[in-house]
Amino acid sequence: MSRIDVLGVGFDDLTMDGAVEAALGFMASRAARYVCTPNPEIVMAAKKDGGLASALAGADMVLADGVGVTKAAAMLGTPLKSRVPGIDFAAAVISRLAARGGSVYLFGAKPGVAEAAAEKLSAQYQGIVIAGTSDGYFKDDAPVIEKINAAGPDFLMVCLGSPKQERWMAANAGKLNCGLMAGLGGSLDVLAGNVQRAPEAWRRLGLEWLYRTIKEPKRLGRVIKLPLFVAEAAAQGAKGKRKNGQEG
Ligand code: UDP
Repeated sequence: MSRIDVLGVGFDDLTMDGAVEAALGFMASRAARYVCTPNPEIVMAAKKDGGLASALAGADMVLADGVGVTKAAAMLGTPLKSRVPGIDFAAAVISRLAARGGSVYLFGAKPGVAEAAAEKLSAQYQGIVIAGTSDGYFKDDAPVIEKINAAGPDFLMVCLGSPKQERWMAANAGKLNCGLMAGLGGSLDVLAGNVQRAPEAWRRLGLEWLYRTIKEPKRLGRVIKLPLFVAEAAAQGAKGKRKNGQEG
């Protein structure tokens, strides 16, 4: 299936159910395939960061993390079926794994966060096996990789923030013993209960970014790029329409 291009990043046109089924399929092959979940900020960063762009292009699945990406795809005239937020995707995968006694390894965030997330996940998803935890502030890859490989999880959550997590997965996929991994940003902070997600009503309106900015004003420097992203999608969408009009 060819990907839908949103300002230079290809996205898989999947619903949540489709993404979870595909994930379980990848997991079965145990080839350490990797999933990326870019938001508009990551799409914009990839324009200037060749390493990030190639890590995204090399991913086995690319999911639209937020409403910004699905809105841009629609403006470009190539709509995506659905947004598939990384954290919801991870929860759905863990729920399916729990039902069969599968395992997850939590990698990233500040020391202690992955352990707190592990406790919450064990309480919420009866049957899930926590294969291990590692924080995201390490010097060398080798000891982390060794620990992950000894645990051999079904699912590896790589929560190092972007572009570190995408680059890490692309560079190390060949060395890892796991079913599937996914780059999931600040998900462990949310699962640990340290960061709160926006209430459902805000999320439905596509305003999770605004809620998070109000809660954490230091994110302002990041969301400021959002209007630029929307403007670029609108401009490119209009150009595409003109071209099609001329040709048709
Ligand atoms: N992080 C990490 N190692 C680093 C830098 C960041 O583990 O070297 C973690 C950080 O502690 C946080 C996550 O990566 O848990 C990034 O969170 P952020 O909210 O920036 O990500 P988002 O969900 O917005 O992509």
